[in-house]
Amino acid sequence: TRYVYRFGGGVSDGGNGDRNLLGGKGANLDGMAGIGLPVPPGFTISTAMCTRYYDEGGAFPQSLLAEVASGIAHIEGITGKVFGDEADPLLVSVRSGARISMPGMMDTVLNLGLNDKTVEGLAATSGDARFAWDSYRRFIQMYSDVVLELDHGAFEEALEIAKEDRGFTLDTELSADDLRGLVKSYKALVEEEWGKPFPQDVHDQLWGAVGAVFGSWQADRAKVYRRLNDIPGNWGTAVNVQAMVFGNMGETSATGVAFTRDPSTGERAYYGEFLINAQGEDVVAGIRTPQYLTLAARERAGAKAASMEEAMPETFAELARVFDLLETHYRDMQDIEFTVQQGKLWMLQTRSGKRTAKAALKIAVDMANEGLITRQEAILRVDPAALDQLLHPTLDPKAVRDVIAKGLPASPGAASGQVVFDADTAEKRKAAGDDVILVRVETSPEDIHGMHAAKGILTARGGMTSHAAVVARGMGRPCVSGVGTLAIDAKNKIFRVGTREVREGDIVTLDGSTGEVMIGAVDTVQPELAGDFGVLMEWADQVRRLKVRTNAETPLDCRTARQFGAEGIGLCRTEHMFFDASRITAVRQMILAEDEAGRRLALDKLLPEQRADFTEIFAIMAGLPVTIRLLDPPLHEFLPHEESEFAEVAAATGIDVDKLKRRAAELHEFNPMLGHRGCRLGVTYPEIYEMQARAIFEAAVAVANKTGEAVIPEVMVPLVATKRELDLMKAVIDAAATAVFAETGTTLEYLVGTMIELPRAALRAGDIAESAEFFSFGTNDLTQTALGVSRDDAARFLGTYVEQGIYAKDPFVSLDVEGVGELIEIAAERGRKTRAALKLGICGEHGGDPASIAFCEKTGLDYVSASPYRVPIARLAAAQAAL
Ligand code: ADP
Ligand code: MG
Ligand code: MG
Repeated sequence: TRYVYRFGGGVSDGGNGDRNLLGGKGANLDGMAGIGLPVPPGFTISTAMCTRYYDEGGAFPQSLLAEVASGIAHIEGITGKVFGDEADPLLVSVRSGARISMPGMMDTVLNLGLNDKTVEGLAATSGDARFAWDSYRRFIQMYSDVVLELDHGAFEEALEIAKEDRGFTLDTELSADDLRGLVKSYKALVEEEWGKPFPQDVHDQLWGAVGAVFGSWQADRAKVYRRLNDIPGNWGTAVNVQAMVFGNMGETSATGVAFTRDPSTGERAYYGEFLINAQGEDVVAGIRTPQYLTLAARERAGAKAASMEEAMPETFAELARVFDLLETHYRDMQDIEFTVQQGKLWMLQTRSGKRTAKAALKIAVDMANEGLITRQEAILRVDPAALDQLLHPTLDPKAVRDVIAKGLPASPGAASGQVVFDADTAEKRKAAGDDVILVRVETSPEDIHGMHAAKGILTARGGMTSHAAVVARGMGRPCVSGVGTLAIDAKNKIFRVGTREVREGDIVTLDGSTGEVMIGAVDTVQPELAGDFGVLMEWADQVRRLKVRTNAETPLDCRTARQFGAEGIGLCRTEHMFFDASRITAVRQMILAEDEAGRRLALDKLLPEQRADFTEIFAIMAGLPVTIRLLDPPLHEFLPHEESEFAEVAAATGIDVDKLKRRAAELHEFNPMLGHRGCRLGVTYPEIYEMQARAIFEAAVAVANKTGEAVIPEVMVPLVATKRELDLMKAVIDAAATAVFAETGTTLEYLVGTMIELPRAALRAGDIAESAEFFSFGTNDLTQTALGVSRDDAARFLGTYVEQGIYAKDPFVSLDVEGVGELIEIAAERGRKTRAALKLGICGEHGGDPASIAFCEKTGLDYVSASPYRVPIARLAAAQAAL
């Protein structure tokens, strides 16, 4: 097998990029070389090598030596320099690159190939001793950190001391001799910490770095990122070895990062930052404040330092040409890293850029309108789950804001929460149920878990492309970065802005769209759903087959869902209406009644209340189907607990408290979720379902007569296991309908159906469908009953189950397609065989989960039903599933 693929200088062994094999970075370096862009020559060691390396306990096969040697020869041939040559040395970077970009996860080593001898050669050929020694000291510092894993604090301290000794503030002020001295200190540090001198053999350096890249695949922070992003551990990373180009060779050299469109808003404008006379990650690490790429961006920000467009107009024009070529080639917004060496542009990386949900929408819609991609591709480009960001509130423009500072609007959206200063505290407080804002000088990959736990992120340093900004945008967390006036004292858990002080636990609000930082919580408003959002949703609606309904029972939820495009209610839970303070006493009276007559007395009080509930819902949902589930939960959930509650029921019924308590004790169940609930209530106390059915039909008739626009009630019987149960309940419902229609003189269409939430019901779907006009898969209970896992108790072990790979994802979040899915398939097939027109839907939490929706599409269900805020997500996911 071949493991090494060369690129650059007219060569592109990868044939324009298999990213699974070459990793994202390698594939795109190969791709750029393939379309003739200026890429420093290099080679990629494939991901297959990483996998083999771990399989063989961390060793390289002999054959790799020769392959790497030929890769180095390729670079030497193009650059005319020789690796390890004392007169004219070749320097390389060693970079990792997995299939999916994992920002900041893997460490890069620059300037590899320098030692005490070659540094003199570099000084001579470049004619710049200062540059050569600066490169050498950077190399030792990086190599010691990444490969030797020594404490990098000690190196930074040595650098600070060197500057202080000379009274300097900037690294660039150090002379060649200063740097030579610094290299000496660094080498001494290495020998002290590592116990051996810094490796002088360039081949030892190279293999050490290659091993470190593979090693970093199993570093904790990489594992955390993979866990959070569902990236399999066996993908492995590739290693890219590439000729160095230098952005730190004086005023005509620079390094920068750029996006071909604005990753925050999606606007079609080049967007980026660069630093003159700097190398590598100086821009991303936020060490110096970078300059803007374009004149327009500089002016908008009111910044003084010249933009690249002004400082290097010719190179900028070349860069702009490359941007356009890249967008046309990759047909997506690109995130680019480049270096300018003495006026010549070099491309070091390109990839599809991370973007906010807002930008994703705009870019997808714009690119489709520009003809760069099709509408179908536009639909597929937007991650449905990310829409969540857009559907949630933003700051009320009219609210009073106590703004204490302003930074860069690094990731949009508003967030309020308690200030915390480290990632671990963020995670702990989140687990305790608090909203937190993570405040850091700047973030690094070690902070990922805290950023994930936080509602928002605030940093004192770093630009729009800093680690904090990039990661926050990817996660959909609001972020304000680079707040220069922010003085953080992390040790004492306090930050100051001017005279204002904020301590850990104090509430602040961030506006990631304006960069404002405010004290206290600020009011929010609902988002505007027109524009690009509306356009993409319209395109999605044109291609999707599945209908999307909502799970809602309050008028507010019903209205929200309708506004989000719900095409009906898939699940209206009637029990929620029973908890209302005004009715709970009557509900308790019903439960505690000893006989039917007692129950009917209480039900008579509840009837008008239920009718009023349904009337309101039917009016809001006019013209659409509404599925109402009859009473489902175990009765004991409604029982009185407090003395005062018993007293209230006693007063309402005239039954004494002791007797009521005895009755309540009788109702105790050992396993209520499998107990007296669902249609079992209706079978034992048919008058309950009779009252509910009557309320439904009276409300439906009233709304139909008033508005002329009728809803279609779909009365749903829960927890059915056998056809006979459904038959008994259907008789009660039909009788109520007949009675109401006779009394009112109005007849309307309605359906009677059942939830499928017990395995027996799924298996016996063929005969149940003789009576049921629809099935709604109640996948929360179906998961619980099929897996035999109590969803109220699962948290204790499900985490371990997912970690151990027993279930790929939490089966209550994403449908267990193999098991529960098979039950659904069986039920759908058997049910439809009996009744071809059987309506099929899903109303569990899974109805809003994109992966589960894909399964529903495949199984041919008629609709999914999701909570109101997930309706747009479901619409888009349904469209993607149909494509
Ligand atoms: P990351 O995946 O963290 O972005 P990279 O491998 O892209 O890591 O390396 C980080 C930075 O190092 C790049 O942005 C680039 O500026 C610099 N770099 C990498 N390779 C070279 C090279 N061959 N010449 C000059 N700079 C390089
Ligand atoms: Mg990095
Ligand atoms: Mg990079």
